[in-house]
Amino acid sequence: MKKSTELIHVGERTLAGSTPSLTTPIYETSTFVFDSAAAVARYQAGDSDGYLYSRYENPTVVAVEQKLAAVDGAEVSLLFSSGQAAATHALLTLLRAGDEIVCSGAVYGGTYHLIADVLPRFGIDYRFVSLEELADPSRVIGPRTKLVWFESPINPTLRCVDVRAVAAACRAAGVTSIIDNTFASPINQAVLAMGVDISMQSATKYLNGHSDVTAGVLSGRRALLDPIAKMRRLMGAILDPLPAFALGRGLKTMPLRVAQHNANALAVARALEGHARIARVYYPGLPSHPDHDIARSQMTGFGGMVTIDVAGGQEAAFRTFDRLKLVKRAASLGGVESICSLPILTSHTGMSDEELARAGVSRGMIRISIGLEDADDLIEDLQQALA
Ligand SMILES: *Cc1c(COP(=O)(O)O)cnc(C)c1O
Repeated sequence: MKKSTELIHVGERTLAGSTPSLTTPIYETSTFVFDSAAAVARYQAGDSDGYLYSRYENPTVVAVEQKLAAVDGAEVSLLFSSGQAAATHALLTLLRAGDEIVCSGAVYGGTYHLIADVLPRFGIDYRFVSLEELADPSRVIGPRTKLVWFESPINPTLRCVDVRAVAAACRAAGVTSIIDNTFASPINQAVLAMGVDISMQSATKYLNGHSDVTAGVLSGRRALLDPIAKMRRLMGAILDPLPAFALGRGLKTMPLRVAQHNANALAVARALEGHARIARVYYPGLPSHPDHDIARSQMTGFGGMVTIDVAGGQEAAFRTFDRLKLVKRAASLGGVESICSLPILTSHTGMSDEELARAGVSRGMIRISIGLEDADDLIEDLQQALA
């Protein structure tokens, strides 16, 4: 079946009997009842499809994991209480003392600090590499490299990395590759089909899509994810059934939402490109974007994120930001509501001019998560704020 059909029907655990349900109920229970010692023994032998305890597995959570596996084209998906929890479980399962992780320097701040501040405590070394270095991926892999972690498109310039090239270099070297696919979503970028080993996403963003759930997911082959599932029992950051239910509901409309995010973002980007008060518009779907060709080769839609560089720098950008009416000033992305943030006060706060230049970030940038309002209303709001 196609992704949109699978997202609606895969995994559903409906109730039969006198109260037959169309959708999966919220199994908001911490534990499950067994009939007998023999039934517990069967569960422990892996010989039943029953449940023991919701920190291990829960039917509402499993139902959503199966939808995610379907849309990611994965054998298995695992849900966590946040994107950061998903990243933590992957890193602490796949790496041990003496190993090295190679990570793109252009990653989510939480990922950056998890790797730079936490992993060294466990004897794990790290190396951050530039986009230029990642363009020749076999050269960034060293003798102790176990894992390569990267993102595409990146925040806030939406620069893209050749996903197939990184995946192939990792395969050839026997190194595990993980991409954070949060910005694109599997609707726009099928990363596992391009050879990446694990897709990590903050489900807080496009997967849920309604800005009302914090969750994270890892998807990939069973052999790679089973040890992570075991660690999840120990570290304990599985998603709770109630937010899992909300996420499952959001997923059913994801293909429609993402298609509209793509269309709205392209409309906004086109309308603002060339605006007298804007120095530059960053959107991978514009031919002017430096990675437009890479984006076209690996994305079926260019996503809902648009970054503008306001002419006149920080002062002009702050003024424009303050004057937006419909577009709200808030961190995060991927929801039905359009929101925006200033990279120099969020993802790139406290950086020197030199560090900003290296990241390609300017003081005049406003990053916009284009929502599902009418594109004309969004363009009008941005134009009145710029004026
Ligand atoms: C939000 C985000 C994360 C972290 O996810 P949480 O759900 O906030 O823990 C990781 N990577 C990217 C690209 C994100 O946007």
